[in-house]
Amino acid sequence: MPAVPPAGYLWDATAMTEKGLVLVVEDERAISDLLRLYLAREGFGVHIENTGPGGLSAARTLSPTVMIVDVGLPGLDGTEICRALRAEGNWVPLLFCTARDEEVDRILGLELGADDYITKPFSPREVVARVKALTRRVAHTASPGDTYRVGEVAVDATARRVHVRGVEVVLTATEFDLLAHLMASPGRVFTREQLLSDVWGYAAIVGTRTVDVHVAQLRSKLGDDSPIRTVRGVGYSAEEP
Ligand code: CA
Repeated sequence: MPAVPPAGYLWDATAMTEKGLVLVVEDERAISDLLRLYLAREGFGVHIENTGPGGLSAARTLSPTVMIVDVGLPGLDGTEICRALRAEGNWVPLLFCTARDEEVDRILGLELGADDYITKPFSPREVVARVKALTRRVAHTASPGDTYRVGEVAVDATARRVHVRGVEVVLTATEFDLLAHLMASPGRVFTREQLLSDVWGYAAIVGTRTVDVHVAQLRSKLGDDSPIRTVRGVGYSAEEP
């Protein structure tokens, strides 16, 4: 039997690589080992924590590029980690791992500000693809200098900031990218499938409802000035309200 690892352990000494650092919070050793292997092979630095409190503290101290967080964790569950980080203004892109589809429903319902979800058992390749999509989105979603305005909502794609009537609104990476994508082509109607492919960067696995949940979160943050219009039976577009 291999020795039980300490509560937090580094894959190697150079945890932050050029590609970034992925913080994996997962209490099943077999899964975290597999993720570590696949992510390291892609050039990511990987730090693993196997408890909720350890994951939260590592998120605060290591400033990871992306987090992969199991929902069921000892000490503090994944949703509590996400909630705590968002409450502190930490918008690190966060991919939830869930044991069951029902958990996805619960997470979506909580509106925690998670960026993506994947259900176990998952293929490590799929997780790597999602992590890459998340880092790509953070790295460049629009050309430098791009700013979009629809009604009272202004998006600065370079600074990744959104202002409504001059007041900054803080969005998750996914919320930002979704809004910027819609506002870059005002009036154009996008289907949910198009948005998943354009914004999330891969085909729908968790389902197009993910788009609806993120739109709902955006609307609640942008209030009456939200430029997102539902086109019944088709999808969404950005237009002056
Ligand atoms: Ca677990």
